[in-house]
Amino acid sequence: MTARAWPWLLAWAVLTLAGAVVLGSRDLDRQEEAFQTDARIAHRLLSQRAVQHDAVLAMLALLQPETTPDDPRRRLPAIFPQLLRVERRLQHESWPADLAAQGVAEAEAASRRLRHATTAESGFAGGRLWLVLAAEPASYALQLDLKGMVPAQEWPAALTGAMSVALERDGARFVLNEFVPGPGLRQLAFRKPLASDSQAYEIAIARSVGWADLPWTVLLLWALAVTAVVAAHFRYHSQTRARQRAEELLRLGQATRLNALGELAAGLAHELNQPLTAVMANTQAAGRLLAEDPAEIATARDAMAQAVAQAQRAADVLGRLRRAIGQPGTGEPSAPLRLLDNARHTLDLLEPECRARNVVVQLDGDAKATVVADPVALEQIVHNLVSNALQALECVPEPQRRLEISVLAGQGNAVLRIADSGPGIPADALPRVFEPFFTTRTGGLGLGLSLSETLASSMGGRLAAANSAAGGAVFTLTLPLAAKQ
Ligand code: ADP
Repeated sequence: MTARAWPWLLAWAVLTLAGAVVLGSRDLDRQEEAFQTDARIAHRLLSQRAVQHDAVLAMLALLQPETTPDDPRRRLPAIFPQLLRVERRLQHESWPADLAAQGVAEAEAASRRLRHATTAESGFAGGRLWLVLAAEPASYALQLDLKGMVPAQEWPAALTGAMSVALERDGARFVLNEFVPGPGLRQLAFRKPLASDSQAYEIAIARSVGWADLPWTVLLLWALAVTAVVAAHFRYHSQTRARQRAEELLRLGQATRLNALGELAAGLAHELNQPLTAVMANTQAAGRLLAEDPAEIATARDAMAQAVAQAQRAADVLGRLRRAIGQPGTGEPSAPLRLLDNARHTLDLLEPECRARNVVVQLDGDAKATVVADPVALEQIVHNLVSNALQALECVPEPQRRLEISVLAGQGNAVLRIADSGPGIPADALPRVFEPFFTTRTGGLGLGLSLSETLASSMGGRLAAANSAAGGAVFTLTLPLAAKQ
């Protein structure tokens, strides 16, 4: 994984996580809303039943006490399955013994006092309790089956699943749906007394939402969408970077070629100027000698004068060419720049080449060292030196290929050191590497180092070559530090 992929990986992780948190918490909210709705439905159903029980008792009290076999008390449990038994006490009678044992008489007294039906104390925890209404001439008692209060088909389906549903009264509890909610991401709870004076118990519903309840399919789709978008961006940026790198390399290559041409012309001028001067001196001398000879004097003088004129013209042409070439460099104005940043930039451009050759590159040193230099000229020098090092490293096995670039500042100078673990420069070649056209490589031009040296001195610096104790070549570029650091 290249270092450039990390920010993208981080962006992917942050986006995926943030989206998952938002989607997850929205889904939890939705689940909580659904829970509250189901709980309210359950509460309404139970309250309706409680009101129904009151109505049944009121209706019985209104009817004349009947003893015929058609007694409505016998038929009620068939109509309302939650009514297990219906009993009556006429004024002169007493409650059957089992009802008396369950506190029905006390409930009747309380009902008379409160003027509405009320439940007996015992029986709640077992899910069967008596609801009693004191009336004249007969009091009535209904035995309620709490579990059967709401038919299963009317009960919200969710409430039969992983949640605890219970009726509670004075610390006593009757469980309608047995479940122990464990620790989860969110605890949901609903508690409300039934809307009935006679049956004053609360419905209590609890549920915990755990990891398994999260919308994993949605989260997975989100992660996939983020992956696709981030991957597309990464690809686009990689391609843009590669294109920029190729453009910069082209620009650097063009600048190098231009300067190499200048170097070549300068070399030619240097080579030609001396013979031309000699031709000029000789023809002048010949002219003098001919002047002592009476034969063809005038013609010889003319010819010699012409030769002088030609030589002079050639010298002029070369002089003009030289002036036209002027100083090498790209003409970029010099500016204060950080040496390490410039080297890193050039190294970035050559990164694919380093990777292709499996070269371990190390770049470090004084990040603040600032020099006044032509940025393009500096890039050209570093480009030449690193390219040379990469070529030299091809001569050693892959695991040994190392390139160390460092920047040191001190005593008014900044030193950029480029050391490779290649075979080094042969002793006889070392004094000549900066000569124009000196090369040991087949197909080499031998202009890279001479050009780099010229560029370095044009910026007031110098370039030196050596071999390290370990054997590889070491090039040091020394440049004056900028005045204000
Ligand atoms: P070219 O690369 O065209 O040969 P240069 O001027 O860049 O021209 O290099 C001149 C010579 O210096 C090379 O031919 C090579 O012999 C030697 N040289 C340059 N850099 C290195 C290096 N890092 N290791 C060994 N020899 C080098």
